[in-house]
Amino acid sequence: MQLPRPTFETWLKPTEGLSSDDRNFVVEVPSPFYIEWLERRIYQTIQRTVEKLMGAPLEVTFQVRPDALAPPGTYDDDDRPERLPGAAIPHAPQSARYNFKKFVVGPSNQLAYNASRAVVDSIGLAYNPLFIYSGVGLGKTHLLNAIADACFWKGYTVIYLTCEQFTNEFIGAIRNGTTEDFRQRYRQAHALLIDDVQFLGGKDQTQEAFFHIFNELHGSGRQIVLTSDRPPKSLGLLEDRLRSRFEGGLTVDIQAPDLETRMAILDFKARDMEIFMDDRLLEMIAKRVQHNIRELEGVLTRLVAYSRWQQPQSLGSAGSTVTREVASRVLDDLAANSPRHQTDPQRILLEVARHYRLTVAELLGKGRTKKVALARQVTMYLLHTDLEMAMSATDVGRLLGGRDHSTVIHGAGKISAEINEDPHLRQDVLTIKEAIFSAPLPNDITR
Ligand code: ADP
Ligand code: MG
Repeated sequence: MQLPRPTFETWLKPTEGLSSDDRNFVVEVPSPFYIEWLERRIYQTIQRTVEKLMGAPLEVTFQVRPDALAPPGTYDDDDRPERLPGAAIPHAPQSARYNFKKFVVGPSNQLAYNASRAVVDSIGLAYNPLFIYSGVGLGKTHLLNAIADACFWKGYTVIYLTCEQFTNEFIGAIRNGTTEDFRQRYRQAHALLIDDVQFLGGKDQTQEAFFHIFNELHGSGRQIVLTSDRPPKSLGLLEDRLRSRFEGGLTVDIQAPDLETRMAILDFKARDMEIFMDDRLLEMIAKRVQHNIRELEGVLTRLVAYSRWQQPQSLGSAGSTVTREVASRVLDDLAANSPRHQTDPQRILLEVARHYRLTVAELLGKGRTKKVALARQVTMYLLHTDLEMAMSATDVGRLLGGRDHSTVIHGAGKISAEINEDPHLRQDVLTIKEAIFSAPLPNDITR
């Protein structure tokens, strides 16, 4: 009665009184994680209650049940063991491509990176669950795989899967009447990593199954890491209790990378692919490709193809050098073929207005509050400068309710100047662009 029900269900229900004498009261717990948690969080409550019930001041001690998890091996980043750990892994991580070493850290992803490392270092203890969210192509799947990879090499049993795979397996289990096996399998894992949990939204039964598995694993100190394209609050979960579970650990986001980080990532990937580019070239590309890191990789792949084609002598040799000409050409092609050209100006008005919580009428109107003015300038910037829609300042001015072309040039220029200085503004613009280019997501509660 003294504790919230979930706390009781999770931390007290699976424990058992072992023995007591006139000094000690011994409690058996399922894993070492329990001891840590119970001692740190509710030791006082437990002791007070025991004392009251037993009528004497007793020392409460905890003891791990003998069949508890075996201690894991060790893992050193620079000295990866060649052996394969004994643990069976139902879903092996794609460790060759994605690991911590291949993740470039910058201000935009530092928090998520640190949290992921901490999870591996003290699995089940540091942040549980860890919830990572960001827009597309910013490194969630990469980090999740890196966690899986590191856990795997430490000898933990890891289940890594996408939310879709989870759902499919669950549906399959129901169909085949093997839901007990399904749950049993998850119970064997030290860590459960699920990618893109936004797709849980709206799926009633799957949420229910997930909730139970989550509770079972979390309750016995297993690590859970989830990624999503939006924070837990916006998941559109039918189950409030599921959301509050997600929020019970640590929630971190990954921001869009700034110019320096984009350059560092580009540099890293280029070296990895044995392509040579000087800093000016790196900067030129990183300035043009702002949207996400996947896009940056796409450009790099094209650059390689072009360069090899232009310098056939370098075929088969160790690497190739990217020239400025090739880079310009690839970037121009990219701009020319980009679907952005077909972007409907109305959609931009709509998304900007939505982002700043205005109506389109307000955006086009006469209002001069700070918010409206900023939203208007962002619109000018998107239409005139950023999206390469080749809309003249005059046309933009007309679209924006009959404004002068010099106003448009001034407004767009102001945003251009500030966007690399002001991270909030940059994030705003990127969020709006993401909204403009993305099809509406299933179960999107913002609609
Ligand atoms: P998300 O899951 O968030 O959509 P991904 O993890 O799939 O994004 O990342 C897209 C691509 O960008 C991947 O190939 C990934 O390796 C790369 N990437 C993302 N962030 C970084 C980073 N910080 N350092 C190196 N590569 C990165
Ligand atoms: Mg992903």
